Amino acid sequence: MHDLPSMTTKPLKPLVYLDHNATTPCAPEVVHAMLPFLSEEFGNASSGHAMGRRGAKAVELARKQISHAIGASIGEVFFTSGATESNNLILRGLTDLRPRRTRIVATAVEHPSIREPCRLLSEQGFDVVEIPVTPQGVVDIDAADRVINDNTLVVCIQGANNELGTLQPVGVLADIAHKRGALVHCDATQMLGKVPVSLVNLDADFAAFSAHKVYGPKGVGGIFVRSGLPRSAIAAPYRGGSQEGRLRPGTINVPGIVGFGEAMRLVEERGVDDSNRLRALRDDFEQRIKQTIPDVKTNGSLAERLPGTSSLTIPGIPASMLLANTPDLCISDGSACSSGAIEPSQVLLAMGLTRDDSEATVRISFGRNNTISDVRQAVASIALAVKAILIQMSA
Ligand code: PMP
Repeated sequence: MHDLPSMTTKPLKPLVYLDHNATTPCAPEVVHAMLPFLSEEFGNASSGHAMGRRGAKAVELARKQISHAIGASIGEVFFTSGATESNNLILRGLTDLRPRRTRIVATAVEHPSIREPCRLLSEQGFDVVEIPVTPQGVVDIDAADRVINDNTLVVCIQGANNELGTLQPVGVLADIAHKRGALVHCDATQMLGKVPVSLVNLDADFAAFSAHKVYGPKGVGGIFVRSGLPRSAIAAPYRGGSQEGRLRPGTINVPGIVGFGEAMRLVEERGVDDSNRLRALRDDFEQRIKQTIPDVKTNGSLAERLPGTSSLTIPGIPASMLLANTPDLCISDGSACSSGAIEPSQVLLAMGLTRDDSEATVRISFGRNNTISDVRQAVASIALAVKAILIQMSA
């Protein structure tokens, strides 16, 4: 017999989840909406029989809920497996056509699902140019104005940064890009559900988003393609089915899409109330942590930010050690998507942080279920961990 760990051991403190930019829990309403489509309503939405038609109808309702929430029309929204696929699909869809324009412009703080395909395109001969950001993590408009030229095919600009929460001036960049005949792709993954998103105001031609960042399920996301763009502007990289206007063929993920639709309906219903509450929690957290650890720095805090995101540098305290010493907190060292990578965050380096400071930075992202007592526990836990780490390091 092996010794099994005791099942009765309980953590001393409740686990506090503060990593909502990595992912969110499914809202109970979302689970409720999805359940029938995981059991009795399992039909394939492409089947012509009654059950298939009910599935297809549920998908169209979700498309309506999502397009309404982002100010798009129903025909402009297509479903994918998530924002990584959406970002890749747009860049491939635009470049597979071997276009005349060969410059691709992206900000220096894009998510790897933009940065990595851009690197691949550069290896394939495209002229990929990065726009630098200010020390606050906001794109440098003058630099953008210099690099977006008449040879630019597409400009990629995220709506909000996953590590810092900084909001980017998408509309301003779109204006510059459009004047030079370039297309605009906005990775709206982090801004969706956290600040009002209107594709009309953003003036983007394409956008990518994901359900699991907005209290929906994992493995489902979307693409916005502005109507009126010539259909030939974007190739469909995959083959094998006619689903989603052939842009993304494959059996439709009915339960996931239904969950995404319900998640966006809730976002519309809860709207700014959630944002105000999250902002208050985040600001309270930052105030308390600064009182407790005076040399802490908040990155990007002078820029417009997502309401629930806080990026903290505690000089001299490696983020990996802070995480190991705060077992009651779910927080992130940089971006969860690049966790495990040994390299420090590209976003923080692009803002001008030193390698040491980048490695001493954690992201705390508040969500719908957090309370003031979570804020207090997080501050107390981090303060205790910093003391313990200083002792460990001086021993
Ligand atoms: N873009 C941004 C800005 C993100 O934060 C993420 C998720 N970390 C993605 C894209 C990828 O989203 P998904 O997990 O749906 O592939």
